[in-house]
Amino acid sequence: MDGVKKSSMTSPHTADKYKCNICKDVGWVQNGDGTWSRCKCYEKECIERLWANFGVKVADVKKLNEYKPYDDRTAQAKNKAIQYLRTFDKIINTNENSFGLFGQAGSGKTHIIVAIGAALLRREKDPVPVVYMPYLEAIRELKANSMDDEYYAKLSGRYCTAKVLIIDDLFKDKIKNGKLMQDKYGHNVALNEADMKHIYPILNYRYINHLPTLISTECTPQTLMELDEALAGRILERCGSNMVVFQGEEYNFRMRKFVEAAANTEVS
Ligand SMILES: [Zn+2]
Repeated sequence: MDGVKKSSMTSPHTADKYKCNICKDVGWVQNGDGTWSRCKCYEKECIERLWANFGVKVADVKKLNEYKPYDDRTAQAKNKAIQYLRTFDKIINTNENSFGLFGQAGSGKTHIIVAIGAALLRREKDPVPVVYMPYLEAIRELKANSMDDEYYAKLSGRYCTAKVLIIDDLFKDKIKNGKLMQDKYGHNVALNEADMKHIYPILNYRYINHLPTLISTECTPQTLMELDEALAGRILERCGSNMVVFQGEEYNFRMRKFVEAAANTEVS
């Protein structure tokens, strides 16, 4: 790919409209030594096709500036997302390179993390291969293919090694109305064998290899802790300050039961 000069991106006088001005939509570029390499746009298109498989057209994803905050917390989430995008190239190599939105449904968490991902994927300079993983659908697909070792490894590996991974609605199957679901004995659900097999290795691989993950989940940090303390710790550690917890009355009510004093400072 070296030796390829990027032509100026827009020229109003050319009748030709290429989606990629580097390779003129051929998908290959010639290197300085005469050999050929896949153009950057090729990887991007493959990735966009993966998004489309889950029903999301990257070009149609709502942008961050279309997100309308309606209170302090949602405004904070938008600002943090903008900040994350701006500083992405600097923080990608740090320990706190992930982004997390936790808590209440209906706060637009998905809009924000998907917008961050799409913006990174579509940016003109150094587009980032961002893989989209809608939690429930993706886990369903992994489970359905768990007998096919080769294909399973390919699927799971895609989520493990993605340069950036969006996990939308993590642990959606464990939480209802802001609370962990309960089993028939009235105990909170825990991670089960299937979770250990399918999602745990992905989160773990990404943690160990310092790979950024954009996470939305109805779990609060506390619910994540209840689910699995070590895993929650790792997720929160990687987000650092790039995270927002959406707190509603219900949340505060629950919090009071856990930590009486702390909840009083954060009444929204
Ligand atoms: Zn190209």
